[in-house]
Amino acid sequence: MSSTKDIDDLIELMAKLPGLGPRSARRAVLHLIRKRALLLTPLADVMQTVAATARECLNCGNVGTLDVCDLCTSEKRANGELCVVEDVADLWAMERSGVFKGRYHVLGGTLSALDAVGPSELRIPKLLNRVQAEGISEVILALNATIDGQTTAHYIADQLEGQVQLTSLAQGVPIGGELDYLDDGTISAAMRARKSL
Ligand SMILES: [Zn+2]
Repeated sequence: MSSTKDIDDLIELMAKLPGLGPRSARRAVLHLIRKRALLLTPLADVMQTVAATARECLNCGNVGTLDVCDLCTSEKRANGELCVVEDVADLWAMERSGVFKGRYHVLGGTLSALDAVGPSELRIPKLLNRVQAEGISEVILALNATIDGQTTAHYIADQLEGQVQLTSLAQGVPIGGELDYLDDGTISAAMRARKSL
């Protein structure tokens, strides 16, 4: 057995993380070993804890350590607004912005004929239940501006039509964006979504 096998194993695992390749994994592992007391040991401890406690909220699909997350149990969040996102990372991004005060529903992906992902592979049946059970008045479809994202938004809108107010995020020029750098699709979406000043 190689004398560095454990360390090689760690590098190999780290290299599988999104945004890291073998080179940055090697640098990260070296850094962790050099900062053993400050970083490596606490990281190993907290990873063990998270491995044992992390779970998906049974109601909305958010990732936390409770069967039903804080966002779902908070009475303050029961304002009738439900924001539908594809992924937990999208929910967390929305929460970081601090702009939305209602509840969320994580689909866990998008409908895709190519990959044989139908409504029941996603949390769509659960979404339809929640709209009734939680007295939702507005469903905000905050899905990605991809073909699959928009197909999924249309499918959900069809299912909920007439039951609830349906809205989607505006598409267009990003904050700080320069027109000259935008693609044609973004410019035409921004033009269609123009507003009066
Ligand atoms: Zn939840």
